[in-house]
Amino acid sequence: MANTKLKKDDLKYFSNLINEKRKVLLSEINESKEKADEILKESTSNAIYSSHMADASSDHVELEKAYYMIARNKKFLGYLDKALVMIKDQTFGVCEECGKIISKARLEEVPHTRKCFDCKSNR
Ligand SMILES: [Zn+2]
Repeated sequence: MANTKLKKDDLKYFSNLINEKRKVLLSEINESKEKADEILKESTSNAIYSSHMADASSDHVELEKAYYMIARNKKFLGYLDKALVMIKDQTFGVCEECGKIISKARLEEVPHTRKCFDCKSNR
């Protein structure tokens, strides 16, 4: 049971999948950063000429959203990095509780998981 691990092909498949997901996240983080910078630039220049509170607060909401997205995506990125380490260690995809192979569908959804669906839902 201790030797249970994913096949090399499967590990490769997931490492590709995770790397693709990382790329998407990184580009989304960049986009959010650019958006935040833009809002900051605009709102400082607007503030001089306009005293519209509505504009200022909608900028604020947009800015919060952008920062929220950055934080959220960075968290996901951390998960994906963990999953990549697990692939390297060949502990990826094996439930730490029962030692069984975790289903592909679950791994595609939550690549950093260390527990199979049954063990997770029995808690
Ligand atoms: Zn399990």
